[in-house]
Amino acid sequence: MAGLTFKHIYKVYPNGTKAVNDFNMTVADKEFIVFVGPSGCGKSTTLRMVAGLEDISAGELTIGDLVVNDVEPKDRDIAMVFQNYALYPHMTVYDNIAFGLKLRRVPRDAQHKNGRMTRDEIHAKVTEAAEILGITEYLGKKPKEMSGGQRQRVSLGRAIVREPKVMLLDEPLSNLDAKLRTQMRAEISKLHAKLNTTFIYVTHDQVEAMTMGTRIVVMKDGYVQQIDTPKNLYNYPGNKFVAGFIGTPQMNFFTGTLKKEGETVAIRIDGSDAEIKVPYSMLYKTKPSYLNGDAPVCIGLRAEDISIDPEKVASAAALIKVKVSHKEELGNQTLIYGDINMAGDGYTESGTRVILQANDAEVQSGEIVTAALNIEKIHLFDGQTEVSIMPRLPEYNYLDCTVKGGILSFGGVQIPLPPAIECADGAFELLIPTAAVKQGGNIPAEALSTEVVDGKTLVSYMVGGQRLFGLSDGPADCGKQNISLDLKMIALLKDGQTQVAAMPQKICMEGFMFKQKVKAETTDEKTGKTKTVSRIEFFLNIGGAVFAAPDNISSKLISAMGVKKAFGGKLRFECSPYDLKFDQSGIPAAVESIADYGAEKFAVCNIGGNIAYVSCADEVSGNIYLRPDLSALAVIQADLDIRIV
Ligand code: ADP
Repeated sequence: MAGLTFKHIYKVYPNGTKAVNDFNMTVADKEFIVFVGPSGCGKSTTLRMVAGLEDISAGELTIGDLVVNDVEPKDRDIAMVFQNYALYPHMTVYDNIAFGLKLRRVPRDAQHKNGRMTRDEIHAKVTEAAEILGITEYLGKKPKEMSGGQRQRVSLGRAIVREPKVMLLDEPLSNLDAKLRTQMRAEISKLHAKLNTTFIYVTHDQVEAMTMGTRIVVMKDGYVQQIDTPKNLYNYPGNKFVAGFIGTPQMNFFTGTLKKEGETVAIRIDGSDAEIKVPYSMLYKTKPSYLNGDAPVCIGLRAEDISIDPEKVASAAALIKVKVSHKEELGNQTLIYGDINMAGDGYTESGTRVILQANDAEVQSGEIVTAALNIEKIHLFDGQTEVSIMPRLPEYNYLDCTVKGGILSFGGVQIPLPPAIECADGAFELLIPTAAVKQGGNIPAEALSTEVVDGKTLVSYMVGGQRLFGLSDGPADCGKQNISLDLKMIALLKDGQTQVAAMPQKICMEGFMFKQKVKAETTDEKTGKTKTVSRIEFFLNIGGAVFAAPDNISSKLISAMGVKKAFGGKLRFECSPYDLKFDQSGIPAAVESIADYGAEKFAVCNIGGNIAYVSCADEVSGNIYLRPDLSALAVIQADLDIRIV
């Protein structure tokens, strides 16, 4: 039993295909994780890297407490089940299951003189597995005498007798017919509950993913789109791809615009004259620029949230006209296809085609019906990036503010700006990152509600008359309390132009790794003689200064790039303002000014043309040297854009 961590995992195939990009995830012990996505999205490659069947190009993979990048597949304590069963045709089911156990080495002792399991031990395991999987009566048969489902049970049996820490399953049910697939799905879930082992399961079938996974990783084109529980993926898809991939029939998507009118937001859908209004409270987390009536957005609604049931239509807050084209009878329900554009055909997938669900629909092709929209279930995405504009964790708060004589005012609150923020008097748009709003401080606020998203507690505050989202490190209470703003993170805009930028949180430096012959004197312990030996050592050039390369950086770079390409290739080093220290030697830089944020000060350093804000306690000026904390550096191979460390 073991958890896994994927840290910045990449796979670049020798032909240059980047199959997996920056995969990050922590899998808890005993989770049932499903990787899902269309063909070619990189899910099998990721699974095969866990199995050790593919090298990991960059990143670190841990199973339990062990980094397994360079551990042989047989030593990883995993078992894998494939789509094609991979059974030995000439062996009985019994022998197929027992095969791996016969080869397995166990510690030698009185009972295991030859370092192998005894016949009785093997027999006990095989019969137990057969029992669990309901194939006891087939143990004497050959695979060819069995059905696909039974064969897959045998390959599951072969995996479970190994008692692996992690079970890997690569599309195990794809070869089975629909009925058997449903049955086996349930059996695999049951097996997971029984074995209490971590499962990682790959499938292209979203129904399989939704019914089996405790959490699902949705992938596309080598990138993770969202990692979440089935329920959250369905209710809070982070982008249009996830929204469309999860759920049948596919979510309806329309193009349109949003316009805030007081406490409501009007949704206009292209091609339809429907008037849809939603309460502004649904869109508190949405960037205001989406609500100006111009920004193109994508509007998503599932078939079950569009209804022609007369009762629903009579009481609905939003109605839309649909010209019916055809129906699909599914027995317990009917899917009605149509178009919200009276000139549309309802057959071609378009920005106005609509699929809605009905229980008992007496509608005819060509008929124009009125449908009720369940506006509470509306999903909205950016028209270009397709990212949700109703984020569960908003990145920023957007507020109106004024600045006068160095005092920032919003929602009745007045905050003196620190010397680092120089701003002319006037009215501005104020951007406050959610992460910059913290509990404790001297700004009176009232916490109205809290919600836990991705393990973080999001608090909705009222500050004066303004709503403000903030993050709490632990559980948070509602009610009156004081908060603070991290002023180095705020930005002020006028007419979309930045007047005051947030302080950069990241320092970027360029450089490369090189090797050099180094001579060193060593003393022979026995003879006491000293001799000079030369050896190759690795160095990093960071921003023009040379540092001995820590082992983890040099070895990871060599393993990712190969011995030849690891040296000399352009690298980007990144760290936080707190990871560079002033020193007698190191990276040469010139202090241009001091950014004084009151509680904290930062030296604005010019490092070979790049500006870096470096945390400083004392006044510093002129030409100085900076020493990076090498253990805190992120190292990125710049040409391939692969994060190495
Ligand atoms: P999936 O399992 O999601 O269908 P894969 O992980 O098999 O996707 O493949 C991801 C990408 O990597 C695809 O573009 C595929 O063509 C490519 N790929 C897979 N295996 C190899 C290989 N051995 N050499 C080169 N490219 C490969």
